[in-house]
Amino acid sequence: MPESTSTSVPKKRGLTSDSADDHAAKRPAPRRVNNSLSEALCQLLRDGTGSDLVLVCGGENLPAHSLLLESQCEFFAACLGSGMKESSERRIELKEENLDDVKRMLEYLYTGTFWEHDLGHKGKKDQRASEEIYNSFKNPSAERSDEQKQADPLIVCIRMYKLADKFGIPGLREEVWSKLEFYTSLRLAEAHESSIHVVDYGRTNRILGEWQRLMDAIEACFSDLGQLDSASVNEVADVLLEPLAAVAPNLLDPKASIRAHSGSFYLDMFRLPEGENRVFDDLQGRLERTPRLAARLFRLTCLESFRRDREAEYDDELMDKQYFNKDVKKMLKTVARLMTEPTEQARVLQCSSEGDHFREDGEPCSRSRVMVPTFGDLLPDTLVFRCPECEWEVTIDDIKEELDDA
Ligand SMILES: [Zn+2]
Repeated sequence: MPESTSTSVPKKRGLTSDSADDHAAKRPAPRRVNNSLSEALCQLLRDGTGSDLVLVCGGENLPAHSLLLESQCEFFAACLGSGMKESSERRIELKEENLDDVKRMLEYLYTGTFWEHDLGHKGKKDQRASEEIYNSFKNPSAERSDEQKQADPLIVCIRMYKLADKFGIPGLREEVWSKLEFYTSLRLAEAHESSIHVVDYGRTNRILGEWQRLMDAIEACFSDLGQLDSASVNEVADVLLEPLAAVAPNLLDPKASIRAHSGSFYLDMFRLPEGENRVFDDLQGRLERTPRLAARLFRLTCLESFRRDREAEYDDELMDKQYFNKDVKKMLKTVARLMTEPTEQARVLQCSSEGDHFREDGEPCSRSRVMVPTFGDLLPDTLVFRCPECEWEVTIDDIKEELDDA
């Protein structure tokens, strides 16, 4: 079997006789080919080889391949499969769209992703380069111009989401979502210094460092995507809003000045000056301008607060349980010891009330009864030994100490 297949494999060039080289020299020079499907698709997009369709946008003709467009995009499928003018002319005008965004949309349809930064960027346009560009952002000292805002990669992502919805490209929506996730994990990740009881100041500082960009993008979700249904808007806005909701209380006091003198915590909390916190004022202004944003952030902040409360509750319970389990173990050990040392039992477990404990009928305790294990009154999860006559209590630790002393 292996021998028969080996005969069908063509011999490699260079290993054969000179005559094979002569033969190769007579053939036309082979066309340069791509190493992978993705490279091949990039090439098709770049030079338009074999295109059967032209998109016209912003005065430019963009050659395209209808198969690729139809198979991923509801709009193109409807347009080209309908027998409409466009399908016979093989020419589709996209008058309303931004040229760069249409180029990005094509890039997505051919490569599965798009470049959300400046299209004129020199050098590689890969994840690594994208990371560097995101990391080089500096919070502007003044409000940005509309042009600057529109060029911001996050706003580009929001626009692409809108385009994905308009043209019916579900994959592109997902790609925007994952790009925003990439951004938040890169720039707004948790600092891992927080416990559930403390809001993360490391993360707060990151958010402050991205403030303008983040807030402009969040606002764009609700204004630019206003036509979309709420679920679609929230899907993309939540990626940006969740880190904000997680640190929302810190925004009132971003320099942690309250925590610095915790002795007067409650007093200072109400003395926080109003109208002197630039970040908080900016947030408040945006919330007033965009009620849907306010409503969504309120919900997420409540959820976050709820989560913290529940986790803290669960945590305390867990602590109590741990102590309780420890107490039970101690109790069992002590009881086992008392059973093997009956002489000690009489002494240690006998009521030792100091005379300030009386029976229900007002008479002093006879101090002759053996104390029995039960739950504490003040701390229901602790175990104690209690005199059945006068309710004098001793803890397991007391009993153990006495046993150890004996
Ligand atoms: Zn007693």
